[in-house]
Amino acid sequence: MTLITSQMIHSAPFHDQLEAVRLADAHFDAQGQVETTGDIDRKVVCLRPMRKGLPEISAESVGEQVRVHLYGHGGSGWTLLWGSIEKAMALFEEKAREHKFNDQVSITIIGAGCMGKAVALSLFHAGYRNIRIVAEQDNRIASLNSTGYLAMVSLATESETEKQEAEQLAIETLKGYQSVDRGTHPIVNEGVHLIDVYSGLGKEGEEGPLETYTGIEPFAEAGLLPKPQQGVVEFSTGVSYPMQKFQTYFMDTAVIMAAFDHELRTRNIPVIHETVGSLDDIKTYVVFNCSGLGAASLNHDDKVYPNMGLLLELAHQPLKKLDYIIYTRYQPPDAPKRSSPPDKADIYFMPRSGGLLGATFVDHNDGSDNALNEALFTRILRENKQFFGYPLNTH
Ligand SMILES: Cc1cc2nc3c(=O)[nH]c(=O)nc-3n(C[C@H](O)[C@H](O)[C@H](O)COP(=O)(O)OP(=O)(O)OC[C@H]3O[C@@H](n4cnc5c(N)ncnc54)[C@H](O)[C@@H]3O)c2cc1C
Repeated sequence: MTLITSQMIHSAPFHDQLEAVRLADAHFDAQGQVETTGDIDRKVVCLRPMRKGLPEISAESVGEQVRVHLYGHGGSGWTLLWGSIEKAMALFEEKAREHKFNDQVSITIIGAGCMGKAVALSLFHAGYRNIRIVAEQDNRIASLNSTGYLAMVSLATESETEKQEAEQLAIETLKGYQSVDRGTHPIVNEGVHLIDVYSGLGKEGEEGPLETYTGIEPFAEAGLLPKPQQGVVEFSTGVSYPMQKFQTYFMDTAVIMAAFDHELRTRNIPVIHETVGSLDDIKTYVVFNCSGLGAASLNHDDKVYPNMGLLLELAHQPLKKLDYIIYTRYQPPDAPKRSSPPDKADIYFMPRSGGLLGATFVDHNDGSDNALNEALFTRILRENKQFFGYPLNTH
């Protein structure tokens, strides 16, 4: 992984004046923990379906049945969505020809996340008419909690070849979002727009926003998104920082999932709420296994593990004026020097829902350690208050 290099920077410097995220009314309680009142609406604990190496996208025949696996996209499921769906559909069509399936073949999709719902709609678009989705749940899932940042971060690729393969899926996906943005996508045409992303320029050991691998670099290098600029960001609170400005797509995941639901209803594709104990329990000719973390047991895949992300959902934000993303490492003033991985942001603001502050990237963590969660929520709020220029008023 390389940090941004000076050769990539070509545009004129900018001086952007941005509305600061409102955190004056965000407080800590007597224990020093974040209070869900004032500017903070909710604390959210959620899990990314990580997989060591690449996401699993494969097809197999088990007797008369075809099983397509499509899971393990970690913190980049939305970033890899359309490329992954395309690959899974191509593998399925090959098997469908072998098995001589027609368009009435019975298809069960396990999972109602972005993978399950988008594959259901893609199958319908390809002409298949006997489709159902079976899912344990479709509300408190990674796909809905996702921040919706199109960037190559939070995957567990282990080699340059795997990284390049993932980037290829991401590039296909970017093209998909470009057509969503233009209103020409066959499945969904809302919830996506280009957005400015700011990250730091500070060097190791300095204070403030630090140089960060934003995950947009591969797209900028391929000429698919604008190259970054360097300049100054001045917030309405008076603080200002030298920063780097990228552009990428913001996927409003709640809006897109609602659009998927609408399209599923229109096409009479049911979502049945059930837990599948074993793939052998599914008797349809075709199974798409889009079960995210559930694939660890359903497909006996010991490469799958949870990575915990925490989010603070905000209240009372002037969201229209906050149409930007901050994704940066950050060294708080007067704090012990930290050495965080180059691609993991400490300050992460997204304009989704009422506005989000996040996010943590805690590997092999299932979210059940409340003491750790509270400590991390406190860190998120404390450092965001400092970053956006508010006093640290504890009780
Ligand atoms: C905090 C956070 C921030 C994120 N931010 C981003 C981002 O900015 N950009 C990005 O690209 N990605 C991001 N992601 C990652 C992205 O959300 C996921 O990669 C993606 O949503 C995975 O989609 P999925 O459909 O595979 O899984 P999920 O959304 O997890 O859905 C899995 C489905 O399978 C069902 N299921 C599981 N087991 C069973 C079973 N045994 N029987 C029946 N049903 C079962 C579940 O109930 C669910 O419906 C983020 C994730 C989190 C948690």
